[in-house]
Parts: sequence; C-alpha cells; structure tokens
Amino acid sequence: MRKIVLPFFATLLLFSPAFQLSAQILDKPFIRLVVPEQDTTVTDAPRYRLSASTNPGNKVTVNGAAFKVYESGAFVGLLDLKEGQNSLLIVAVAPDGQKAMRSFQITRTPPVASTRADTLMIEDIMMEPSTDLWLKEGDVLTVQMKATPGKTATFMNGLQMSERRGVETGGLLGVYRGIYRVKATDTLANQLIQFKLQDSSGRVVSKISPVRVSFISNKVPLVGVVKGDRPFLNAGLGKDRLGGAKLSFIDSGVRLAITGKAEGQYRVALTENQEAWIPDDMVDLQPQGAYPPFSLTGSMRIYGESKFDYVAISLDDKLPFATTTDSDPTRINIDLFGAVSNTNWITDEMTATEITNVYYTQVEKNLFRLTIELRHKQVWGYGLSYRNNTLIVKVKRQPEKLDLDGLSIVVDAGHGGTNKGAIGATGVMEKDLTLAIATHLKTLLEKKGASVIMTRTNDESSFNSDRIRRILPLNADLLISIHANSIGFMTDPLSVKGVSTFYKYICYKPLSHFILDEVVKSDLTMFGNVGNFNFSLNSVTELPNVLVETAFVSNPEDEMKLLNDEFRRDIADRIVDGVQAFLDWCGE
Ligand SMILES: [Zn+2]
Repeated sequence: MRKIVLPFFATLLLFSPAFQLSAQILDKPFIRLVVPEQDTTVTDAPRYRLSASTNPGNKVTVNGAAFKVYESGAFVGLLDLKEGQNSLLIVAVAPDGQKAMRSFQITRTPPVASTRADTLMIEDIMMEPSTDLWLKEGDVLTVQMKATPGKTATFMNGLQMSERRGVETGGLLGVYRGIYRVKATDTLANQLIQFKLQDSSGRVVSKISPVRVSFISNKVPLVGVVKGDRPFLNAGLGKDRLGGAKLSFIDSGVRLAITGKAEGQYRVALTENQEAWIPDDMVDLQPQGAYPPFSLTGSMRIYGESKFDYVAISLDDKLPFATTTDSDPTRINIDLFGAVSNTNWITDEMTATEITNVYYTQVEKNLFRLTIELRHKQVWGYGLSYRNNTLIVKVKRQPEKLDLDGLSIVVDAGHGGTNKGAIGATGVMEKDLTLAIATHLKTLLEKKGASVIMTRTNDESSFNSDRIRRILPLNADLLISIHANSIGFMTDPLSVKGVSTFYKYICYKPLSHFILDEVVKSDLTMFGNVGNFNFSLNSVTELPNVLVETAFVSNPEDEMKLLNDEFRRDIADRIVDGVQAFLDWCGE
C-alpha cells in the first residue's frame, strides 16, 4: 500500500498551505479570505465569523481594528454587524511596509417588521402550514398568518384566529393563530386553506394557503411499503444539520400504517401509543384496502455459523422494528411493532457462542420485545434484515483474540474530492488533514498486525452512504472515522477548540471514550464525548464505530497543530493506544 501513500504525500507537500506560505513570503503580501466565503454575504445574524490569513509576520487590521496574526499567518474573529450593508476592509502590512488590501460586504437583513397598521393585508411570510398536511381524527390543525394588527381574523369556514401577544412574538404584532381539532365526520380532501382578515368597517381581504390539507379517515388505514437503501424512521419532525433524530434504520419491504403527513414526511403508527415519521420518498403508498401491518410471531431459532450467531423469528408480514442495547447484562432489545406473540418454540441449536439467552415480552398490544443476551460485555455488532417474512438478527461474535494483531479495522478519512470539508484560515482543507491522519493510522495499526481497510486512499469523492454500502459486507471488527471539526458562521472561532469523539449507540460509547482519553493527551484541550450523534457512519449497528473529530480547523491554534505532520502522526498513534485500551477493557 506504500505505493499509494507516497504519491499522496508528494501531492500534499506540493499543495500544502505551509508550502504556499513559504513561497508567498518572498512575494508581495497577500490576504486569503476563507470566511465569509463570498465577497457579498447576506445574513440575519448580528455577528459573522472572519477566517483569513496573510504572510506570517504581517500586521492586520479590519476596518482599522487590529487582529492578532498567528505564526501560520491566520487571523480570525467575530465581526459585529449593523443592520443593512457592512463594508469591510482588511489591510495587511508587511514588515517592509508593503500592503495588501481586501474588501468584502456583509448585509445584515432587518428583523421581520409588523405589518403597517394603516393597511388591511395578509402577508405571505410566516404562513402555516408551510407544507402539505394529512391529518386524522383527533389531530390538531394549527394555522398561522401575519397580517395587519388589531383586526378580526378567520380561517376555513369562519373559524376564529387570535392575535398573539407581542411578548410571545418578540414584539412583532399582527401574528394570528388558529387551531382546529379534526373530527371523525370531517372531510377535506387536498384542499387549500382560506384565511380572511376583516376590519371594523366590514372590509375583508383574503388569502389562500400555498399548501394543501387533507383529513384522512381512521377507518380505512393507509399502508405504505418502505423502499430504497437503508431507509429509516425518524422519532419526530425535528431537524438539525445532519437530519432528524432517527428512531431506527429499517429494511426495505417493511410495511407501515400511515396516519398523516407533514413537512414531507409520513406519520407512521407503530403501536396505539407510539408513532414515528418517514420521508415520503422512502415509501410507496399502497392502494386503498391494503391490510395494515400485523403479525402473530411464529417459532424462533437460535444458531451460529462461522463469524456470527443468528436469531430467526418467523412472521406473516415485514413489520417495522427498533433496537436498543443494555449493558450488564449485555443485551440487544428488538421492538417489533404490530406483532403479537404466538411463539411457543424458541429452539436453541446450541451452535451459537455469543448469544446466551433469547426471550420475549409482550410489552403492550402490538408491541413485542425480543431480548437477546450476549456472553461478553461489549456488543461487537448486529444487524436486522428480512428473508421473506422471517426476521433475521445477525449478531457478531467477539473476536477470538482481543488484540490488534489479527483485528480488521476500517479507517475512514472524512470528506475527499469535491467534498473539501471544513477549511482553515490558512486555506488547509479538512479532506487533506483527514487523509494524512488516516494514512498514519493505517500504517501504525498495520505495524501492530491489524488488517486495515481504508474508505479512500486518495483525493476522491464518495458519499458516506456509498462508504457504508462498501463497509458493511467486509464484516470488519471496528470502524474509525477521522474528521477535523469546525464551528458555524456565527460563533467566535477562538472560543471553541479541542478534541472530541462521537458515537450514536450507547453500546459503542466505550470505544469512543477510550480513544478520547488517549487523543486528548496529544496537547489538545478536551471538547468532550458526544453521544446519540446523527453522523451517518455512526448510524451502523453492525460494528463498533467512532467518529474522531481530532481538533478544530476553525481555531488558529488547533489549525497550526493539524498543519504539523508530527502532530498528525501523534494523533494517529494515540488513536491506536485508545483502541488498545478498549481491547484491554473488553478482556477484563
Ligand atoms: Zn468533517
């Protein structure tokens, strides 16, 4: 694999910012502006991050205010913005008096203002619902509009709306809200909602919602069949940068009872009391009259083959599921939604070595919980899939030897190709840093006898979903993803730095914890150990996995460390120590 490594380092050397800097020191002073990313930026925030660099040793001012220039040439800060256009000028002055200048604009948009009192109008903004809605009996339709304050507002057929008080809206007047609880007798099929506003003289203006609302019947359940690769259920309609909090990854072909729709997601009834959401493009709706998902559970079989143990449970239907794990005793719990026990046989063929016990409880009507107890304290991976209507739980056994020698480890260098990742003030790209650290890690792990599979060995683009598709069939023992962290555009880059490790499932916390404990010794401040993280490579249950956010490339001190190859090698070295500590703990 050295053949691949060497050209890479040649490339990194040629294009590394350090090389560019040393070349440019001899030239005229320069200014490299990294954040803001454009010459003209529009924001509603009162502050905006500045991340830039110049020749080391230059003095820098931004609109006359001095900025500290780090040894790398980086200078960063948080710019205060006034409402409207902010013209900014960076001036860099070299020791010999030569100057470089760079100007850019940031426009801060004013906050939304109340509709003028001398009008009678309904505005387009802040109108809810903002996406098509499907509701059923008992659901509450919430509507909102922004209009002239102090008037009489109604929606649908004269339902009253009330004006929210200024204290609830940050001083904004004329925000009207209405609610309606859907009744069994309501029929509304794909209708637009009409809003009306009336003044004291009886003058009326009206506006139609841009989205459609349907009331769907409880009596004729809608059924959807899940499609695509690694479909998932969301716990709710919440969102963040990486998507909503996921309840579970499920299999394609799973059938779901659909009870509503909002924000581009179908609402799914899991049990009488539990619901979830799924993006509408992951579901094929079935013709009316399709049976809702339900199954009696049949016999169960426990058996082992080569590297894995299995539990097979026969069902009449592909039901949705969600899993959790416990420690002490180590358990995998599988909630099967829509299942009622009729299992009278749990046959242990005595070939499983990791699975010690299998039992179930009928937690409530239509919620069947299967529990699989394991021999060792660490869960080494599990996956669920359907073979026809039989649910197969595949459980990975603990490696025979808890030693790096013989272990198979996937090392993932984050980003790559057109996906540059975060960019430091000196222009260094996260994708180059992650590949450099990952390559060190590969070398060090191989020295210890591990076999290492890299998700990329050069500057190529690949989606994380494709990486997962390639990783899973490898049946590797561990997955380590390397990234460098960065803050958003509204945070002070000097205030956030240090190392962090991330996991999603509690059973994989120990790996992330042991690695963090070691990497923090590498002259880094502690950011923390983050759980329940929504990063896609943390979403696999099939093997213990960790995301290592080595340091903040947005912080000039951390960035200088990351630019140093000695430091990158040291981080890799300490990740190896962390894995070793994890293995030692597993063997205790
Ligand atoms: Zn990243």
